[in-house]
Amino acid sequence: MVCLSLEELYKEVILDHYRAPRNKGQLDPHDVALERNNPLCGDEIEVFVKFDGENVGAIAFEGKGCSISMASASMMTEKVQGLTVKDAGELAETIKKMMAGEEEGEPEVLGDLVSLKGVVKYPVRIKCALLGWNTLLEAFEESGKN
Ligand code: ZN
Repeated sequence: MVCLSLEELYKEVILDHYRAPRNKGQLDPHDVALERNNPLCGDEIEVFVKFDGENVGAIAFEGKGCSISMASASMMTEKVQGLTVKDAGELAETIKKMMAGEEEGEPEVLGDLVSLKGVVKYPVRIKCALLGWNTLLEAFEESGKN
């Protein structure tokens, strides 16, 4: 029997989202679209959000970059869809704290997102993992929804 270490498991989750990204593509119509990049790694991302009242009605992303940036964005779109803007914003802040090592991150709350913790020990990759989340927060700000 093969027993995966936690780190290997994290890697599997990230690779799965990288190979088969969720919600990848343009979203039309959308209320806000925002493009950001991470020059350190060359990651580029554009996040599209369509609001449904105070909720994230639909979300998608476009972009190219390393496996961490793309997997993180994929997981983000999967997780925040349907949440209120407030809850999605709080989740983004939790992820930022987790990546800063200030919070453990509850697997029951975060699901696959805890796999991003595997990146914490590679400081240069933290920006990759947070690119989608920071873009989301800025998109909320730009739309006046936050
Ligand atoms: Zn990257």
